Amino acid sequence: MHLFQWQGQLILLNFLMFMSWRPCRGLNVPNYGSTFRANPTRRTESFAGRREPVYYEDEYEAAATRAVSQEVRRAKLSAISNPDFYFPPDPEADLAEANIPVPVIEKQKSRQAAAGGAEFSYNPKDKNGPSHWYRIDARCGGRYQSPILLNTSSAHLVSRKRPLRLDGQTNLPDTILLQNDGHSAKFTYRWRIGADRPVLRGGPLKTKYLFDQFHFHWGSNSSVGSEHVYDYQRYPMEIHLVFYNGLYESFQQAREQVDGIAVVGLFYEIYQHSVDEQLNTWTRFLRNVIEPNSEFTIPFIDTFPLYEVIGDVEWPYFSYEGSLTTPPCLETVTWIVATKPLLVTEKEMRQFRQLVAPSGPMVNNFRPVQKLNHRRVFLY
Ligand SMILES: [Zn+2]
Repeated sequence: MHLFQWQGQLILLNFLMFMSWRPCRGLNVPNYGSTFRANPTRRTESFAGRREPVYYEDEYEAAATRAVSQEVRRAKLSAISNPDFYFPPDPEADLAEANIPVPVIEKQKSRQAAAGGAEFSYNPKDKNGPSHWYRIDARCGGRYQSPILLNTSSAHLVSRKRPLRLDGQTNLPDTILLQNDGHSAKFTYRWRIGADRPVLRGGPLKTKYLFDQFHFHWGSNSSVGSEHVYDYQRYPMEIHLVFYNGLYESFQQAREQVDGIAVVGLFYEIYQHSVDEQLNTWTRFLRNVIEPNSEFTIPFIDTFPLYEVIGDVEWPYFSYEGSLTTPPCLETVTWIVATKPLLVTEKEMRQFRQLVAPSGPMVNNFRPVQKLNHRRVFLY
């Protein structure tokens, strides 16, 4: 049996040596294989008393300086047309090919998206409701959309996992811009020093992702609100922490790239023991952005780190490839959805429900679940 294996390896070795020699036949290239074959004396004579290197050196110089005869020229040309010869035979021709202009494909941009994408609605009866978002942006009709149903029983368990890490989650920003953008309450952190920006890495992520903003999706009452549905349960609220790949300049640039965005989603459940306790002190700023398209800058003295919002990143989580959950619904998001919910009180939920959207109270701003379409959901 061992003998059989050795024979197989020898045949493979011979084949590889033959293949490496074959393309060099008849070519005057500095290759030991070709000079060896071109010189008949080398095959017949013994090596006794001869200094081999001298021979090689002579052959090189002669090849470089000798005037090219018609015969050699023909041989070279035939070698160039040899399909086995995979190096570019003529650098100039290669360059000319490289200079052929690549056809420019105009990026499709719908009128609505150009106007700021503010026309979409969460009302299912509305003509711009979630089932018609594909008219606002065709990409909302894609096959890898979010949110989805997350089920423990059908998720693929990842056994050999790298830990998910969020560095700089206690760093304080310079200011925080709070916006009512007509669809959600959005907190965008502004950093004096770029290096302070929290970084998400590990887990399903291949590179570092930089923190950009977080926002929320909630319901008109506490039986609905979250976008993802975890084991057939909807939570009263879901936070989305949006990160963009550090390989790109900005969120705007990254969101168009296949590995551009990572979003961490966490559910909130109602803290039952006390109705009026303030668990999330930062919700007090919401009263400054009641009106649609209003904004408020939280000064440095009142800023709060990410740690105050989500705490430690040490929970089991689902991960899958999906999309932004609002138009343009770009399918460039690696989703990380925690299985351990955060806590919120009914008083705090009322603060969210006081916000106003262009069409009325800002509630039920969650997209219906989308089809999985043969995607795999992993449980880390
Ligand atoms: Zn969101």
